[in-house]
Amino acid sequence: MSIKVTVWNEFQHERMNEKIKRIYPDGIHSVIAGFLAKEGFAVRTATLDQPEHGLTDEVLADTDVLIWWGHRAHKMVADEVVDKVHSRVLNGMGMVVLHSGHFSKIFKKLMGTTCNLKWREIGEHSRIWVVEPGHPIAAGLPPYFEIPHEEMYGERFDIPAPDTLVFISWFPGGEVFRSGCCFQRGMGKIFYFQPGHETYPVYYQPEIQQVIINAVRWAAPTPGPQPVFGNWKPLEEVKVKE
Ligand code: ZN
Repeated sequence: MSIKVTVWNEFQHERMNEKIKRIYPDGIHSVIAGFLAKEGFAVRTATLDQPEHGLTDEVLADTDVLIWWGHRAHKMVADEVVDKVHSRVLNGMGMVVLHSGHFSKIFKKLMGTTCNLKWREIGEHSRIWVVEPGHPIAAGLPPYFEIPHEEMYGERFDIPAPDTLVFISWFPGGEVFRSGCCFQRGMGKIFYFQPGHETYPVYYQPEIQQVIINAVRWAAPTPGPQPVFGNWKPLEEVKVKE
């Protein structure tokens, strides 16, 4: 059965700014949904302006992996929706958080830290190094690749130490950044991926698409035993001392 992916985007910049509209006329979410659908995933999209931001109970229950792009409207995302997404992740839904999603309410709640970083927007290139070549998210990639134009994100990136660090990015100003980070929260897997500034056509780049496709496969729930909590009867006869 196909992995069910919901691509969430605040969908603000693409409607307000002509330059960005030219790059993503139907929104960043449509481009991401397009290459994921081509890969055979069952894809839907959801945006901020829809009722419950498009993330109703039905949609969340029917989502294996949620992709998140947000920037200027983080504060407009309702806390009730954030709480529901958070609890779905703890129950096994995967999440792929992209670029400025580092400051989204949901990512900060999952990490428990400020998720702050250094940034600069001058159109420089970035070089992404694969530092965990055997990891499923690095499948099919060269040892490193470059993005012609990207916003610089630099350390310190205030996140908890990732369970696995798959990519490190280098920028011409001398900065480095942990740009591909894996986390597990409860039964849910989370992947943060740095590229994707809205004024550059980053999500059209084949290597970037490959990473997101790999991340969806990695983050999808794996069938395992449902945890049981609370008072528990012993499986063996237990002799209690008098
Ligand atoms: Zn940006």
